[in-house]
Amino acid sequence: MRVGIGWDIHRLEPGARLVLAGVDIPSESGAVSRTDGDVVLHALIDAMLGAACLGDIGGMFPETDDRFLGVPSCDLLRQATDRVLREGYSLNNVDVNVILERPKLRPHFDRMRARLSELLGMDLNRINVKARTSEGMGPIGVGDAVVAQVVLLLSEATS
Ligand code: MG
Repeated sequence: MRVGIGWDIHRLEPGARLVLAGVDIPSESGAVSRTDGDVVLHALIDAMLGAACLGDIGGMFPETDDRFLGVPSCDLLRQATDRVLREGYSLNNVDVNVILERPKLRPHFDRMRARLSELLGMDLNRINVKARTSEGMGPIGVGDAVVAQVVLLLSEATS
């Protein structure tokens, strides 16, 4: 088994789109980003590459490389997943934390898990999504930022 950890933060601004785990979430504020600003998928890519000892999202998809400009995060995740599977790993389970003051994400957990299951080709019962607030404290607490944390476990090929 190999464990990986990922973390990401994006600023939130009124009127922008909020995409989490590849799912559009109705919200007054969304992530400010050159792409879709999906902190869950960005943290997930980092966790996956970390577990496989393949560096990080910035190494695989450099911001200076125009090929990745505006590419949806779900496409980056697919490329990272393909790479990790080609290395002979299989995906064991994923646990996601989102820290966001509003909106409440619980009504969207099922859709988020289903989308991750689809993108990763993993059973639903291997994917967990949780959400917390920051209790009104700091930039997350006043609604200026969203954070995602992901822990992911890979199994090494047995051959
Ligand atoms: Mg990011």
